[in-house]
Amino acid sequence: MIIIKSEREIELMKTANRIVAETHALLAERVKPGITTIDIDRIAEEYILKCGATPAFKGYNGFPATVCIAVNEQVVHGIPGQRILKDGDIIGLDIGAVKNGYYGDAARTLPVGDVSPIARKLIEVTKDSLNQGIAQARVGNRLTDISHAVQQYAESYGFSVVRQYVGHGIGRKMHEAPQVPNYGVPGRGPRLKKGMALAIEPMINVGGWEVKILSDRWTVVTADGSLSAHYEDTIAITDGDPMILTRL
Ligand code: MG
Repeated sequence: MIIIKSEREIELMKTANRIVAETHALLAERVKPGITTIDIDRIAEEYILKCGATPAFKGYNGFPATVCIAVNEQVVHGIPGQRILKDGDIIGLDIGAVKNGYYGDAARTLPVGDVSPIARKLIEVTKDSLNQGIAQARVGNRLTDISHAVQQYAESYGFSVVRQYVGHGIGRKMHEAPQVPNYGVPGRGPRLKKGMALAIEPMINVGGWEVKILSDRWTVVTADGSLSAHYEDTIAITDGDPMILTRL
């Protein structure tokens, strides 16, 4: 069942999502060659707590940290640690926060210093594929219109779309119905209605779409070792344009 949020609930969701967006803005200033991934995690956690919110991922199914960090061929769900970022890396940062009982969720992929042209292109196309998906999040469209738009765009650049992980409804829980795949034919699934809140999150690979999980049982990597990027925004469907809750 897809939970429809009232206008008041959407207002409440804005707070948690703004905190997530602010945390991303802060990290974008701090991500540089030489910083460790655990330092990034600490900065994020301190900021979220300072805002009176709670990191949403910490403790979720036993995940040990505030930020899910994915470097280079890592796709999602990497655990922060002593790894030092190098010039030329790309880093995916997925952050969730809960405030007043409502969740916010967003991901960004950032270049570390000077990155290769293909890495820069991957980041740009992943971000734009998310924008293409968001543009379909309108009353009257169906769910997979979003999915199809993401896939079409990413594949038009020769990149591939991860299948095993998908976006989701969001609200009083981090993961609500419906699942939001980043691929598929258009015109399927539920009709989109005002008050639906969705986290749309394409994961795009330079090589093949297949992924595997490392022995830490968390970190998802591309099966072929190619670069991967991840962008995510939480949006609310309105009578008009979609409202993006995780951009400042
Ligand atoms: Mg998410």
